[in-house]
Amino acid sequence: QEEVNIISGALELKKKTVKQIMTPLNDVFMMTYDAVLDFDTVSEIMRQGYTRVPVYDGSRTNVVALLNIKDLALVDPDDNTPVKTLCKFYNHHVRTVFDDTTLDVMLDEFKKGRSHMAFVQRVITESDGDPFYETVGVVTLEDVIEEVIQSEIEDE
Ligand code: ADP
Repeated sequence: QEEVNIISGALELKKKTVKQIMTPLNDVFMMTYDAVLDFDTVSEIMRQGYTRVPVYDGSRTNVVALLNIKDLALVDPDDNTPVKTLCKFYNHHVRTVFDDTTLDVMLDEFKKGRSHMAFVQRVITESDGDPFYETVGVVTLEDVIEEVIQSEIEDE
């Protein structure tokens, strides 16, 4: 039965889009570019427990960088290191995808490596002015795998 689930899950990948499985922006734990990595901030990051933390500048829909929890290993909270400094130093690749990307395509993207998280973007077209992109959520490899196996993966 499990095998049947996995096969049907895999077949469904073509029919589902990242918009349907992403973690919406409101639920994403993020940091602002001008934050300082003092004791309180680092404690909060650890308490949240995510591997990757998107970094935004100004508004939350304007994601500019990605921090990995491992980046904090050499940070001394007494130094009050700006988030910006760390982002520039590690400069992790920020992958973006459109919200209508299907999951089979998303899985192929993740398989290429670099980052197992992508920022989901939507095109906003208003009558006046040029269309622009807005970040609406994040999707990770784990979200896609859960669709294949059709069950939740409990976090460590
Ligand atoms: P982690 O390694 O941090 O547990 P995973 O890649 O295993 O992250 O994803 C687990 C779930 O958490 C997924 O549903 C993903 O969309 C979500 N997620 C990942 N990072 C964040 C974050 N910074 N804020 C909120 N949700 C997140």
